Amino acid sequence: MINVLLAFGANLGNREETLRSAWKELETLPDTEAFQISTFYETKPVGGPPEQPDYVNAAGTIRTELPPVELLKHLQQIEYRFGRVRTERRGARTLDIDILLYGSEIINLPELTVPHSEMLHRNFVLRPVQDVAADWIHPVSGLTLSAHFAALFGKSTTS
Ligand code: AMP
Repeated sequence: MINVLLAFGANLGNREETLRSAWKELETLPDTEAFQISTFYETKPVGGPPEQPDYVNAAGTIRTELPPVELLKHLQQIEYRFGRVRTERRGARTLDIDILLYGSEIINLPELTVPHSEMLHRNFVLRPVQDVAADWIHPVSGLTLSAHFAALFGKSTTS
């Protein structure tokens, strides 16, 4: 089993209910165990079109034997099931699930970049991550995710 760190975001519909339901769906994936979900955090949208509703963000750890791209496909199916509309990049969405870390693997495929390229710059990602994976090591930097959160917090940006 590989330990995988996921990020969740929703800013349309019943956001908390969507995240709870998505987490339950993860438990039904083959060869996968949904391990721990963070507290839900309400955040202001960063980037994207103006006038978007606020987000609810969370992080979760799962254990899986699914290979990375297969896992991504399952996550995308869950996103689609919740009616995500992909027309507008960074626009409002019912549900967004990202793979932040997949064990200590470094993956550079057209459809999948792991560690997630933006994860270390986003407070709304690193904050919930502290609840479930503070001591995980980022395989590129070699630093813990709590060290990255502290470093980000020390800067003026919260994006
Ligand atoms: P976004 O609309 O920002 O959620 O981006 C979705 C696209 O990002 C999908 O087409 C994925 O193939 C791609 N992608 C690349 N790396 C990742 C990752 N680590 N987790 C989830 N999606 C990813």
